[in-house]
Amino acid sequence: MSANLATVSYIGATILFILSLGGLSHPETSRRGNFYGMVGMAVAVIATVFGPRVGAEGYAWIVLALVVGGAVGLYAAKVVKMTEMPELVAMMHSFVGLAAALVGYASYIDPSMHFEGAEKVIHEVEIYVGILIGAVTFSGSLIAFGKLNGKIGGKPLLLPARHWLNLALLIIVIYFGREFINAPSVEAGMRPLIVMTVIALLFGIHMVMAIGGADMPVVVSMLNSYSGWAASATGFMLSNDLLIVTGALVGSSGAILSYIMCKAMNRQFISVIAGGFGTTAAKPAAGDAAQPEGEVTPVSAAETAELLREAKSVVIVPGYGMAVAQAQHTVNDIVQRLRAKGTNVRFAIHPVAGRMPGHMNVLLAEAKVPYDIVLEMDEINEDFPDTDVVMVIGANDIVNPAAEDDPNSPIAGMPVLQVWKAQTSIVMKRSMASGYAGVDNPLFYKENNRMLFGDAKKMLDEVLVGLEAA
Ligand code: NDP
Repeated sequence: MSANLATVSYIGATILFILSLGGLSHPETSRRGNFYGMVGMAVAVIATVFGPRVGAEGYAWIVLALVVGGAVGLYAAKVVKMTEMPELVAMMHSFVGLAAALVGYASYIDPSMHFEGAEKVIHEVEIYVGILIGAVTFSGSLIAFGKLNGKIGGKPLLLPARHWLNLALLIIVIYFGREFINAPSVEAGMRPLIVMTVIALLFGIHMVMAIGGADMPVVVSMLNSYSGWAASATGFMLSNDLLIVTGALVGSSGAILSYIMCKAMNRQFISVIAGGFGTTAAKPAAGDAAQPEGEVTPVSAAETAELLREAKSVVIVPGYGMAVAQAQHTVNDIVQRLRAKGTNVRFAIHPVAGRMPGHMNVLLAEAKVPYDIVLEMDEINEDFPDTDVVMVIGANDIVNPAAEDDPNSPIAGMPVLQVWKAQTSIVMKRSMASGYAGVDNPLFYKENNRMLFGDAKKMLDEVLVGLEAA
């Protein structure tokens, strides 16, 4: 393939990636967006493999890598459960970081990529920064993976004087950067490069370990952004324009998503990165989070069906538990049934419900719930006082009134769905266990709240039977 054709293909792929991002911004167009992304990536891979920079002698290696990587990817995507998607995404981010770091080392020792004068300095800065971002993304994403699948506890690890520690690490990294660029030979440059890589790996671990439970969504989207910048840095190292642009698209869209997540959590972006949110340790010692008081009132599936039947307006709040139970199809059946008899049924989606951005929207779209009754938190939060019944399906942190009422709660200040303002709220979950943030929920003890204990899918099946029986 000629250089010109490769360039044209790259421009085509860039346009497809932009169209893909545009499509992914709305559930209705997201399938198309995904399709554009896949075609764009296929064009990009073909143009690179058959482009002017790959010699025929490299084909065997590339095919081998494609087969191994493709097989692992295909297998992982096939066996992954919907609830494990966030972990898979975190794992993918770590691969991008690892690739950027490895490409950095490769292009440093590659004799064909040695320059003189200003070009040498620029190339070495690209390598240094690329490996730095890559290593932070790699280790940070691995910790995020562990925190999302529960192998690493959700509580933040708060080292004493951690901000000073981070600052010291940054100064050391800058110092070794100078050493690296002034190194007289590749051998001499290796030492500062390795020291920096180790520091970057430790920094990635420290950064994500310091994030408290409920703030994880911000970290996940932040690592998404980092992985984009790591890819972009790789593009600079390899002088590959498409990689630079694609990385920048992922990096900037991830940064925008992080901003949206921060706003949803009512957190300052910088404070989340600096760590320590979602912690009780940061609060005054005397002001521990209040323990909920009162009695819980259990309710049966048949009684729930009765309450739903009599309600004129119903709001459904889905959470992580709906994803675990895979209850979305039964939810849709119940919604159809209620709507057929004239009940006003709507969904209230909290921005951090579930375990990844847009988690609930994906599940509801899969179950073919009409988009126009699926509302964002801001669109529906004021309607709860006029709602007869709220069904909270496997959600916990996102409906916790302590976020508003208890300044000592680890989730204080996070906007939540005010379900307790409805006439009756019904919370479906298996036990009194806390949610991802590990915080007690006073909602369960409120007088107008009922608890429907059990697996969400099983209980909803019973509710549906109850509705059909009438
Ligand atoms: P939570 O984690 O707060 O609560 C989920 C509840 O679902 C649990 O309390 C659990 O209770 C219940 N549950 C689990 N399995 C089932 C089942 N089979 N049937 C019925 N109930 C079940 O989820 P929310 O969606 O309310 O909140 C999301 C939390 O996750 C927030 O803290 C958010 O910050 C965090 N997070 C979000 C991310 C995102 O991007 N959206 C990423 C990372 C973290 P029980 O065990 O008693 O059944």
